[in-house]
Amino acid sequence: MNTFQDLGLNDDLLRAITDMGFETPSEVQDKAIPLLLESETDLVALAQTGTGKTAAFGFPMLQKIDISSRTTQGLILSPTRELCLQITNEIKAYGKYCKGLNVVAIYGGSSIQDQARDVKRGAQIIVATPGRMKDMISRRMVDISKITYSVLDEADEMLNMGFKEDITEILSHTPSDKNTWLFSATMPKEVATIAKKFMDNPKEITVGNKNEGSTQVSHEYYLVNSRDRYQALKRLADANPDIFSVIFCRTKRDTQKVAEQLIEDGYNAGALHGDLSQNQRDLVMKSFRNKQIQMLVATDVAARGIDVDDITHVINYQLPDEIETYNHRSGRTGRAGKTGISMVIVSKSEVRKIKSIERIIKKDFIKKEIPDGMEICEVQLMSLANKIHSTEINPEIDKHLDSINTLFENTSKDELIQKFFSVEFSRFFNYYQKSKDLNVAENSRDRESREHVSNDNAARFFINVGTRDGFDWMKLKDFLKEVLELGRDDVFKVDVKESFSFFNTEKEIKDKVLAFFTDYKHDGRFVNVEETENKGGGSRGGNRSRGGGGGRRDRKDNGFRGDKRSKSGGEGRRRSSDSDSKPRRSSSSSYSSDRKSDSSSSSRPRRSRR
Ligand code: ADP
Ligand code: MG
Repeated sequence: MNTFQDLGLNDDLLRAITDMGFETPSEVQDKAIPLLLESETDLVALAQTGTGKTAAFGFPMLQKIDISSRTTQGLILSPTRELCLQITNEIKAYGKYCKGLNVVAIYGGSSIQDQARDVKRGAQIIVATPGRMKDMISRRMVDISKITYSVLDEADEMLNMGFKEDITEILSHTPSDKNTWLFSATMPKEVATIAKKFMDNPKEITVGNKNEGSTQVSHEYYLVNSRDRYQALKRLADANPDIFSVIFCRTKRDTQKVAEQLIEDGYNAGALHGDLSQNQRDLVMKSFRNKQIQMLVATDVAARGIDVDDITHVINYQLPDEIETYNHRSGRTGRAGKTGISMVIVSKSEVRKIKSIERIIKKDFIKKEIPDGMEICEVQLMSLANKIHSTEINPEIDKHLDSINTLFENTSKDELIQKFFSVEFSRFFNYYQKSKDLNVAENSRDRESREHVSNDNAARFFINVGTRDGFDWMKLKDFLKEVLELGRDDVFKVDVKESFSFFNTEKEIKDKVLAFFTDYKHDGRFVNVEETENKGGGSRGGNRSRGGGGGRRDRKDNGFRGDKRSKSGGEGRRRSSDSDSKPRRSSSSSYSSDRKSDSSSSSRPRRSRR
């Protein structure tokens, strides 16, 4: 095996490598660094997240550019602000002994003037997100006409995010004889196309099997009813008291919703998605890195490539649309030689996706059961007992021992222990004692007869979208199932007209349906759903006139963002099935099991974790 010295790196870089504590090059570094140092070539490198790709392009770039010049020579494009900052910091650390090096990050959501000024000072390397980069080029705030090396990092994700045109535009401002190094975790067709278009006879490096997941991660799935997803998530968290996790949702909206529910329910949770301001995102990431946040609820895009050590669990609250994305998610854990668990909460309609993922990651999933309430009580109790057992005694306690001893004069040791543990145990016990089994048997036919639900138990809704919005009955049904997170047969009697439609659900989810569509926008306009009398049997309400059918509600956009930030904005958002009270810590129990700390009282003494 090679050492970093063998790779041909100069002393300044080797010193930084020693400082960073890197001992041996990772596989992608081992393959890419000598190649890039020795030849002027284009490169396509495929490697999983967490394999050290930043250094694989960072070191060669640092060694090859002329640091005595102030011309911009290296351009690194990356999909998100977080990654852009992460790469910038990493490159700065690699180049800390390169005197005069100036690396500048360019990304949206932060002052463009400041960034332009930093570039003007002479940035040899620019790390940028495509949107902001394009913007700055058009305003002539950057000059990339003398670039010698360009990197497309997380190329698959940039394309997923629709940056193809931006990238094309940006690269058209760079010299054609530069070298382009493309790094990607997966190789979908789009990436291959880009490689063909922008590269000249690129060398190829593949680390591990294409698309193969990390061997340090085990994969589990839990089969539940769609409507029990959130309860299942809480159980998984409660059953793992020291969880430090990223929870993936499919949409920004769900991400925000789940994070808010968790916070409301007393968990140390935070949301990370593109609708938050840069400042909010930075704060969340900081708290997560400090482990003040135990459960980071994130969209795929926002969490892409985020490199936080020690993540114990990745939880797929919903599976991603693109199965390949699963790899990126599970790659957040099991890093740096540690083991990790990737959990998937699935409903029956999605369970077949597990098989497809197994084929891609070449590993089997283990089907597990959502733990029942009493199991969780036991886990929590034992976790507390272990913590107490390993707690160092604070000598300051001595002063108070006399009065405590007096109070417990007539209490036996056993009784004292029982009482002591009851403080915490009862909280979970009371919460979970009447809890139901959330598991669904894989082969049960329990939902099959949904179509035959009698009209008496059905609620019928009017919705102001129809064929002119591109829906037919199947598309509308799929759309509703997806946004409302319903199962296969939960939406029925879908009747689509030109500018509006009708559909049925069971009565029990009526409130959920109505609540969901109070501020929901589809393709930029409000979707309005109302209950109607019509039961969908016999003559259907096809003649209902809705003022032109567009039904665009004239209301101010107090949607999602503003609304979600108000901490107390819990109006009816909680589903009735969630409203059973959470296992809150009684305020008197001061040895807080860390998870349940009250999110609103930041002054509460926090336990340092791990
Ligand atoms: P990727 O871009 O492939 O997802 P990163 O470049 O973000 O991976 O690297 C993941 C982590 O591993 C970073 O914290 C980085 O500092 C660390 N790292 C990179 N190379 C090495 C190495 N050779 N030895 C030890 N740690 C490394
Ligand atoms: Mg990376």
